[in-house]
Amino acid sequence: MSAPAGWEPVIGLEIHVQLATRTKMFCGCELTFGAPPNTHTCPVCLAHPGVLPVTNREAVRLGILAGLALGCEIAEISEFHRKNYFYPDLPKAYQISQYDHPLCVGGRFRVLGEDGREFEVGITRVHLEEDAAKLLHLGDSGRRAGAEQSAVDFNRGGTPLAEIVSEPDLRSAADSVAFLKQLRQTLRELGVSDVNMEEGSLRADANVSVRPAGTTGLGTKTELKNMNSFRFLERGIEAEIARQIAVLESGGRVVQETLHFDPETGDIHPLRSKEEAHDYRYFPEPDLLPVAPAREWVEEIRAGLGELPVDRRRRWQRDLALSYEDAEVLSETAELSRYFEDVVALGPPERAKAVANLIRNELRAQLRERGQEPWESEATPARVAALVELLEDGTLGARAAKDVLAEVIDRGAEPAAVVEEKGLAQIGDPAELGALVDRLLAENPAQAQQLRDGKDKVMGFFVGRAMKETGGRADPALVGALVRERAQGGGNGA
Ligand SMILES: [Zn+2]
Repeated sequence: MSAPAGWEPVIGLEIHVQLATRTKMFCGCELTFGAPPNTHTCPVCLAHPGVLPVTNREAVRLGILAGLALGCEIAEISEFHRKNYFYPDLPKAYQISQYDHPLCVGGRFRVLGEDGREFEVGITRVHLEEDAAKLLHLGDSGRRAGAEQSAVDFNRGGTPLAEIVSEPDLRSAADSVAFLKQLRQTLRELGVSDVNMEEGSLRADANVSVRPAGTTGLGTKTELKNMNSFRFLERGIEAEIARQIAVLESGGRVVQETLHFDPETGDIHPLRSKEEAHDYRYFPEPDLLPVAPAREWVEEIRAGLGELPVDRRRRWQRDLALSYEDAEVLSETAELSRYFEDVVALGPPERAKAVANLIRNELRAQLRERGQEPWESEATPARVAALVELLEDGTLGARAAKDVLAEVIDRGAEPAAVVEEKGLAQIGDPAELGALVDRLLAENPAQAQQLRDGKDKVMGFFVGRAMKETGGRADPALVGALVRERAQGGGNGA
């Protein structure tokens, strides 16, 4: 869905990412998910008087890594600030965050759009902060309104977060999703975060405004909070764009406010929460030293970046002629990327598309049933490359290839040996198939006549019969050509 003519949406995202450290941002408590409530706490993250926070060096490293991947400058000196507000999930009554001196600033992130278009999104900043604890609303199915009791689980309090703020460079909901997906892939591959949206390791807020197409000013923006899936993000932004356009077209004006999108009803309504209080009375955190990463350390981190997923995908699309979807799916994780490249390396590059098809479809489907990952399975790159070769040179048909693959996975068999052993080689002999086709035409005169009458649909009937009679070994393309040729040959051959 795109905006009605005459309007241009302007979108920026703020993304909270949970950093994949072992311990919390300012204390030594271990990070867990699903541990019994309040079993991973200490005087620091419970805000006892007189305790002192200590910055987690690994969190700083991961923040720098994220910043470098996003093309940011790493600040020589960045500072922590206290962001003051009172809420039961925040025992200190302030959150330690970064304010006017964030860790990373001024990046550019290149995104591949689904339509083959590339675009850049400016990155305003990446800063570090701690997460609040988790409020549990008990009774009345846990819904906030009408809950009988609320309890606090401090296990999550103090979890290290990086907040990534983009420039308002996005122009559609689809582009916003493409950007977030690629950001997620990049952060996961670099080990910055496990980016698990269901567990809240990645959450996005969207700032949305619209303006008359062709103008450059900015309209009044609203903020959609806490979108925790790509689908909600897309639907929420689309709904908000439509709402703002309707308001403006009816002569109203958009009010700057924080909104909640309800994915169940599709409704958007103002959010009443702590987030409405805007005066946080920021001031420098007196208990923490500024973060001043040594330049050698930053360069060491930069050296470990490797090829970013976006660059790998572009290379695959350019050099291996993969589609956008192929490249997106196969680069999902570093392991899968490496596996795909290992298979491709064993054959000519022209075969990469066939390798991609086999891995994406049949191999992943069969392995999913068995709960295995490709790189841990008996389907080694050498065996998969051998199987693709048999498919490409016509020795094997698609159906037989499935059976061969099952043998490879289940007992580590070599594809050529399975073909030999089970007599699975594709029948591509025109004489042999010609005789079969003649017989099928003779046995089914009504269908043969339909074919001569131009009813091409009936072709599927003959190919299906030929496959059945040969146990799936007939070359379907050759059967099709032979049926067409011989049906026209006049009569039914009887
Ligand atoms: Zn602690």
